[in-house]
Amino acid sequence: MLKRNSTRFTAALVAALISFIAGPNAAPPAAAQHREQAPGFYRLKVGDLEVTALFDGTGVFDPHWLNGTKATMDGVQKALHEDPHMLDVADTGFLVNTGKQLILVDAGAGTWWGGGAFGRLAGSLRSAGYTPEEVDLVLVTHLHSDHVGGLTTQDGKRVFPNADVYVAKAESDFWLSPEIAAKAPKDAQPFFRSAQAIAAPYIKAGKWHTFSGSEPIVDGMQLVPLPGHTPGHTGYEFSSKGQKILFWGDIVHAQRVQLQHPEVTAIFDIDQNAAAATRLQLLPRLAREHVLIAGPHMPFPALGTLRKEGSGYSWVPVVFTDQWVDK
Ligand SMILES: [Zn+2]
Ligand SMILES: [Zn+2]
Repeated sequence: MLKRNSTRFTAALVAALISFIAGPNAAPPAAAQHREQAPGFYRLKVGDLEVTALFDGTGVFDPHWLNGTKATMDGVQKALHEDPHMLDVADTGFLVNTGKQLILVDAGAGTWWGGGAFGRLAGSLRSAGYTPEEVDLVLVTHLHSDHVGGLTTQDGKRVFPNADVYVAKAESDFWLSPEIAAKAPKDAQPFFRSAQAIAAPYIKAGKWHTFSGSEPIVDGMQLVPLPGHTPGHTGYEFSSKGQKILFWGDIVHAQRVQLQHPEVTAIFDIDQNAAAATRLQLLPRLAREHVLIAGPHMPFPALGTLRKEGSGYSWVPVVFTDQWVDK
């Protein structure tokens, strides 16, 4: 009895082994490599404010988009040869939850810039636990499509249907003027066309608002005019319990170059001299006061402070923590 059972057991085991070795699923398939990252968000506390960086996408800044002295630009080319990622940039928007209002500062590119590389902001916002319908206000630093494209779909629908959008009057007047657009150089025309298409549904709904001075829009937030990059380029500085955060728009595109050489401008700066002067004036204060900076094109989570280093500055990034503490 025992022997028979044992023989039967051995036969079954051998059969199982044979089917394991020689069967149709001989070896478990190798795990495929995945290339996608999780939609990104990163939260931190600034006083009583909850600030959430919302990842929109990444790109590479072309060295020919920078204007500097020959010596500086030769140095950039050499450094780029040694580190091809030196001019990598991100695009990021930011949510500020004041406890009373949910405010989006810049909206990413949507489908209006970057040939599909951007446009993840709405997904990042959902991952962060919010919905586009919950956004009360959108403050835009300027009307380049990598900062406002996320507001509107290609078929002209508002992505944030309940939000009032605020932009500097000088900015709105410039990009939405058919006369200025008609006179603009050919390669600048798409910027005008997209700004107008992105703004249109908000204007139609009575949700497009402009400011021209220091009128209060949000408690505890100050407008910081940062002219040069565009005519009405504006930063938004929030303060809470002695802590400050400045959303600086396009003060810096290529941080590895422009922080060491704040005089280097980008071809997208409409007034090159004013853009350089604004940056040279702003950076010392931010370094001195340790102001937290939210810079859309800085490496994600695009939050950090400046430290004086030689004749320029270095970027001190906020590093990941899952602790809900003050910065
Ligand atoms: Zn810009
Ligand atoms: Zn930009």
